[in-house]
Amino acid sequence: MILCIFAPQNSKMPLTTNKFDINPVESSRINSVDFDNLVFGKTFSDHMLIMDYKNDEWQQGRIVPFGSITMHPATSVIHYGQSIFEGMKANKTIDGEVNLFRPEMNAKRFALSAKRMCMPALPENIFVDSIKALLDVDRNWVPNNEVSSLYIRPFMFATDPLVGIKPSSTYSFMIITSPVGAYYSHPVRVKIEESFTRAAVGGVGRAKAAGNYAAALYPSKLAQEEGFHQLLWTDAVEHKYIEESGTMNVVFQIDGKLVSPSEESDTILRGITKRSVLEIAKSWGVEVEERPVLISEIIAASNNGSLQDAFGVGTAATLTHIGEIGYRDQLFTLPEIKTRELSNKLKAYLNDLKLGKTEDTFAWCHRV
Ligand SMILES: *Cc1c(COP(=O)(O)O)cnc(C)c1O
Repeated sequence: MILCIFAPQNSKMPLTTNKFDINPVESSRINSVDFDNLVFGKTFSDHMLIMDYKNDEWQQGRIVPFGSITMHPATSVIHYGQSIFEGMKANKTIDGEVNLFRPEMNAKRFALSAKRMCMPALPENIFVDSIKALLDVDRNWVPNNEVSSLYIRPFMFATDPLVGIKPSSTYSFMIITSPVGAYYSHPVRVKIEESFTRAAVGGVGRAKAAGNYAAALYPSKLAQEEGFHQLLWTDAVEHKYIEESGTMNVVFQIDGKLVSPSEESDTILRGITKRSVLEIAKSWGVEVEERPVLISEIIAASNNGSLQDAFGVGTAATLTHIGEIGYRDQLFTLPEIKTRELSNKLKAYLNDLKLGKTEDTFAWCHRV
C-alpha cells in the first residue's frame, strides 16, 4: 500500500499527502550504521512521526527528521507521568518486502492504555496508518538479515505546561524506530519475586504505562545483583501466583500442555506475542490452559520432572527460553534447550511468518 510519496533526496521542500506532511532529511545517516553490531534501542532511523492533540482533536501528523524535542519545564508528563507506549517490530521478508505483525492489536491496546491513563484515544486506523507511513519513508532501515528487525516505538505523553494535577488537555503522539539485533541470545535466569509488586488489582498493570517500568527498575536491579536477568512477578496479594516477567509474558509446558497465567485480572499485560503463540499451538492441536498458575505447582512440576519447558514471550525478546528459575534460596534448572521441541517449533514458525517464509494462514501480516 502506498501512503506517502517518496521524498527525493536532497530536497528541502516539505511534501504533503492527504494524511501526513513529510519533511525529509537532507541526507540519510544509514551508511554510518553498523548493522552487524546493533545495541538494542541505541540507533534510530532518519525520521520520526509527530502528531499533536489539542482543542479536543488530533492535528495533522508530520514526518520529520529524527531529533530532539524541547519541553517547557512544567510539562505535565515530567511531573505526573501521563505517558503510554507500544512496542512492535517490522521485518524484511525474503522477497524484500516490509512486514508488520498484527499492528491492529497494538492499536487496540494503545487505545486501552490511553483510556486507563485518562488520555485521548488515537483512532486505531490512524495508529496503523502512521506506522505504515513512517515505515514507507524509512523502509531502508528495516534490516535485511534474518535475526534483525526494525523496532517500532509509538508513544503518547501529556504536554500541558502546567504544574497542577489534572488530565492534560494537550498531548503528543510520536513514533520512533530503531534497527535492532536479537534481544537475548541465551536462555535467561529468572527470579520469582515475592516482596516487590509490579501490579495490583485495580491498578495500571494492564496498561503499557511508562511508570510501570520505572517502578520495576529497583527490584530488577536487586535481582540482577544476585545474577538473574529478569524477575518473575507474582500477585500483589499473596505472592502465590505467577504473573509475568519484565517485558514478557510467561508460558510453561507441563505434561505436554501449555499453561499460562490468565489475563482476566487487570494485573497482567495482554501480550500479542503470547496470544499468537497460544493460537498457533492450539491450531496444531496442543492443549492450552490459561488460568491462575501457582508457584508451588511449577516447583512441584520441576521436582517431579513434568516441567518440560518455560519461556517468555514478547515483541522485543520474541520467544526466550528460561534456563533457570530462582525461588527463595533454591535454583531450579530447566531441561536442555534442544529437548524443548514445541517451543523451538513455535519460535521458528513465528519467525518464518514474519519473514514471509511460510503461508500466513492466520492473516496476521501487513505488507507495507
Ligand atoms: C510489552 C509487554 C509484554 C509483551 O507484549 P507483546 O505485545 O507480546 O510485545 C509483556 N509484558 C509486559 C509488562 C509488557 O510491557
